[in-house]
Amino acid sequence: MKYIFVTGGVVSSLGKGLTAASLGTLLENRGLKVCLQKFDPYLNVDPGTMNPFQHGEVYVLDDGTETDLDLGHYERFTNVKLTKLNNLTSGRVYLNVLERERQGGYLGKTVQVIPHITDEIQDRIRLLADTSKADVLITEIGGTTGDIEGLPFLEAIREFTLELGYNNAIFIHVTYVPFIRAAGELKTKPTQQSVAKLREIGITPHLLVCRCDRPLGKDVRQKISLFCNVPYEAVIEEKDVDHSIYEVPLMLQRERMDDLVCQLLRIEQPPASMAYWQDIIRKLIAPQHRVRIGVVGKYIGLPDAYKSVYEAITHAGVANDCGVEVERIEAEQIERDGAEKLLKGLGGILVPGGFGERGIEGKIAAVRYARENRIPYLGLCLGMQMASIEFARHVLGLEGAHSTEFDKNSPHPVIALLEEQKGIEAKGGTMRLGSQEVQLQVGSRVARLYGAFVVRERHRHRYEFNNAYRERFEQVGFVFSGTSHNGELVELIELKDHPYFVACQFHPEFQSKPNASHPLFRGFIAAVREYLQQKPA
Ligand code: GLN
Repeated sequence: MKYIFVTGGVVSSLGKGLTAASLGTLLENRGLKVCLQKFDPYLNVDPGTMNPFQHGEVYVLDDGTETDLDLGHYERFTNVKLTKLNNLTSGRVYLNVLERERQGGYLGKTVQVIPHITDEIQDRIRLLADTSKADVLITEIGGTTGDIEGLPFLEAIREFTLELGYNNAIFIHVTYVPFIRAAGELKTKPTQQSVAKLREIGITPHLLVCRCDRPLGKDVRQKISLFCNVPYEAVIEEKDVDHSIYEVPLMLQRERMDDLVCQLLRIEQPPASMAYWQDIIRKLIAPQHRVRIGVVGKYIGLPDAYKSVYEAITHAGVANDCGVEVERIEAEQIERDGAEKLLKGLGGILVPGGFGERGIEGKIAAVRYARENRIPYLGLCLGMQMASIEFARHVLGLEGAHSTEFDKNSPHPVIALLEEQKGIEAKGGTMRLGSQEVQLQVGSRVARLYGAFVVRERHRHRYEFNNAYRERFEQVGFVFSGTSHNGELVELIELKDHPYFVACQFHPEFQSKPNASHPLFRGFIAAVREYLQQKPA
């Protein structure tokens, strides 16, 4: 087993996760079995209770673990199957250690950051190394070098590599090389200081991945090499991408990053063949068709808040040879200005998942606009709940229809809590979470799209369609085209006489890949294309 540790310096949001994932792509395409893992230094036990504005989307794994969005990159860029072992926060580490302390697990000892916290972290690396059976484990350390809270993780990986001997572990540091306009040049000092900080605690990076907005040039590379103590060829340029994050693996390959990694780790594998990946990029850059759709949400200002949704849209674009421009629309703005003003001219409308009341009426108005104007609609989780409420109010005439999440006393609670959820008070990890079976109705649009009758999809929600209303909906053309394995819970809905009106209670966006677009997204973009072609100008 070979180990790669990825740290970050200078600023956050450098794209460490993307870099780790892209290296994973390259190593996988060299024929290696790769596993990826993320450490997050914050004290939340998992990111499930964090506001997307703070932390971006919460990414959900098959086993229901709510994780950091970087794990989404890992799954999109590689074939790795992630579980709760692949994401570890300081909160989880401390919780484990403190629970053990209460049980008497350290009886007689003083429990300390070193060795108890650091040992707990190392055990998690070992556990994953043992269970994953991978050739290479890439571990990304969240946060920025120099943060107090990241220190135990850095200390843990430093210690960990000691027992591995030579050529079995390397450190990669992702850093930032800013262009200072007044000086007219790229500056290496922040990188020098960040590397110095790492060396202070005993970690010497083998490779520096330099994020920059323009080529580094020979001089800058030489300077970084000299002052940061890495060979010239270990200064890897990672320039801002022109079109898409999927260019990153190709960029790193051109910089011979994977060659160097293999050399350092004494891995003998032929070069990665990235032809299919180049094909994806080609379709991304020069698609045959172009469409514009709207995503109506509540965290619109922050692209990371709906990360997987935007990625799944991109993948569907690739599958349809279609460039998709996404207009991000604040649901609250629709409440102020009306749906027509904001949605007119769009080829499709998507309402993603969400929690809380803000913007709810705007989302309902968006669904109504899509349904009445026969514009392709895709609803995800809350987007399915909104579609049901809209239908109840405006087609069935059920005044005041709502979800009990937003109106406890609604006369028509078409979306409501299951009995088993009613007693739950704790917020962390208590929703309906993770991969569950979905049965698709024979003859439905979704069964055609999937080309299957039973699929598995990931969930993250508390409220469900209220079965007391199913019959009334069905009588007027609302199709429950997917249900849970025993038919009890509504999973998918669609409208018969509409170009594309599909919504699901689960989160298909978590299972879409650049080379394997999710059927619901693929069908949606195909419908958008068709709709725009047929629509009179
Ligand atoms: N708030 C809704 C629920 O809990 C929808 C959740 C979601 O969209 N992820 O059921």
